[in-house]
Amino acid sequence: SPTPTLTPIAVAPGDGIGPEIMRATLRVLEAAGARIEPHTVEVGKEVYLRGVNSGVAPEAWEVMRRTGVLLKGPITTPQGGGYKSVNVTLRKALGLYANVRPARAYAPFVVTHHPEMDLVIVRENEEDLYAGIEHRQTDEVYQCLKLVTRDGCERIIRYAFEYARAHGRRKVTAMSKDNIMKLTDGLFHRVFDEVAREYPDLTADHMIVDIGAARLGARPETFDVIVTLNLYGDILSDIASEVAGSVGLGGSANIGQSVALFEAVHGSAPDIAGQDKANPSGLLNAAALMLTHLGQGDVAARVLNAWLRTLEDGIHTGDIAGEHTTRRVGTQDFAQAVIDRLGQLP
Ligand code: NAD
Repeated sequence: SPTPTLTPIAVAPGDGIGPEIMRATLRVLEAAGARIEPHTVEVGKEVYLRGVNSGVAPEAWEVMRRTGVLLKGPITTPQGGGYKSVNVTLRKALGLYANVRPARAYAPFVVTHHPEMDLVIVRENEEDLYAGIEHRQTDEVYQCLKLVTRDGCERIIRYAFEYARAHGRRKVTAMSKDNIMKLTDGLFHRVFDEVAREYPDLTADHMIVDIGAARLGARPETFDVIVTLNLYGDILSDIASEVAGSVGLGGSANIGQSVALFEAVHGSAPDIAGQDKANPSGLLNAAALMLTHLGQGDVAARVLNAWLRTLEDGIHTGDIAGEHTTRRVGTQDFAQAVIDRLGQLP
């Protein structure tokens, strides 16, 4: 058969456990036949310590812009000093307007009260109270401005509907507080209703975010895709991961006009770095999101099926080991177990 065309991607191993889980993830991707060509770039603590305040090596920008895709390990943000989070820097510099975070249960391997839950939160990532427009009026009065634009709303809402369609999901729920913030959140709700009309094949509904958050905590299985403003999305996605019990397993996507960044939800775990203990599942799930984004949904499905089979067989890293564990393994053995199960399921 002809050699498949490989898609170049940028890969930043990151700090702490980053290099170990990246190695494990790339091994699985290669064995699964991912049609990618990884180019390693330097992002993180070592770069800061060399005096590059952004934490991003100058040549990394060119590779990220050229490939349009970054698979990133977690980055340690040095405490104190003038260090800004490299994640914030990347999000702003690359215009990553959509943050996509699936949250699903993996019962019984991961304990949850909601084994049926399987949802995705699509969060606006640039505007709202996170636009960074804050100032002091007097010594005792401070102000933060909430910025919401029609373009920003339309882009994120359309992304959510397109995502739902592409991933076989049935319903998109918008959450806002437009009963109080009638102009900003009101615009978001209005644009949602307009865009929803273009997707008659999908169910669309809107909830006020306070009752929506309460419902998410109590009955998460009733949600499918949730689209919301930046601050609400930040809070809701942590609630969702926590309720699913799978913070340690989750991946997320940050989507921009010309670059997309994929990473695990967890951090660099310096306490277990270099010990072959880390669970590579979060980054592996992020890599599956990346493959789908690259139009390699077939490979993503193969990877996820093998990964689920590994969990089902009771092969677990220490962080999720419990009564269903048959074999407790380290990072690289876990990757090998996933590789051994590739192609065992349809
Ligand atoms: P953390 O997620 O790194 O660790 C929290 C706890 O979870 C630790 O006990 C750790 O050992 C464990 N853990 C995390 N990932 C694991 C994995 N894959 N397998 C097994 N156990 C795992 O959170 P933290 O300790 O608050 O942060 C550490 C550093 O990570 C900080 O410098 C923080 O700024 C950074 N961070 C980076 C990102 C990112 O790059 N996206 C996200 C969050 C935190």
